[in-house]
Amino acid sequence: MPVQFLNGHFLLKDYEYSAHHTYIKLISPLFRNGSLEISNRMTQKAQQFSLEKLNEAYGKKTVYQRVENLYVDFEAKDIMLTSAFAATSAFLLKVFSDVNKDQVIYFIDTGYHFPETLIYKEYLTKLYDLKVVEIRAGQEKHQQTKDEQLWEKDPNKCCFINKVEPLDHIKKDFKVWVSGLMKWQSNFRASLDYFEQREEILKFYPLLDIGFIERDEFIREHHLPFHPLKSKGYNSIGCHHCTVPGSDRSGRWNNSPKTECGLHL
Ligand code: SF4
Repeated sequence: MPVQFLNGHFLLKDYEYSAHHTYIKLISPLFRNGSLEISNRMTQKAQQFSLEKLNEAYGKKTVYQRVENLYVDFEAKDIMLTSAFAATSAFLLKVFSDVNKDQVIYFIDTGYHFPETLIYKEYLTKLYDLKVVEIRAGQEKHQQTKDEQLWEKDPNKCCFINKVEPLDHIKKDFKVWVSGLMKWQSNFRASLDYFEQREEILKFYPLLDIGFIERDEFIREHHLPFHPLKSKGYNSIGCHHCTVPGSDRSGRWNNSPKTECGLHL
């Protein structure tokens, strides 16, 4: 698609794709001298949408329709799906396994998961025939977090080494990153939209408007297994060093002001 670069913006037919990856609707189409191939970030079909239009369109759909439509608007090879195999994970994994059995699911192995989480991961993997790929920090870096007990002294650094960095290594290979965040989980998550541009990747949250009760109803109605710790009062489950039983996400980093691991910020 021929586009022009003007004042730091790629100009499409009706929309402007800025150097900061923000779509801005133009008052009138602007095509002037010179052309530039638009970056290959999205398929041509998806390029025709602004973020605003994507959010408007997907907001009207059911969760299944959102995931089905994702494979219409984007190429399967460009879609990255992550799962923590935590309290809410069975929902999204079930939807993806119904829509596209070949979708790879990336699991970040922090080295500090509850044994129950690893058992749950194996169970769901077999149950839905999931294609799970594990990623983790390099041994030396992980060992540093262990030796220094960074989850106590500097949890942000611990999360960065064990979660953010390993994912950063593969993120560059994809254009859309799907995760199961829901608005009710935190104030930060309540502020999100279905699609959000985060640096070089477009983030997609198909479960964003699903409530706590709806989530549990879906899991029960579809006879999905709950995470084994759910019945012990854990409603949000991360690493064992930083998780205690609690409602919503109150059991995460409950001894510090931290509320997010940094993956989604
Ligand atoms: S959740 Fe806790 S243990 Fe896990 S990576 Fe973050 S700080 Fe470290």
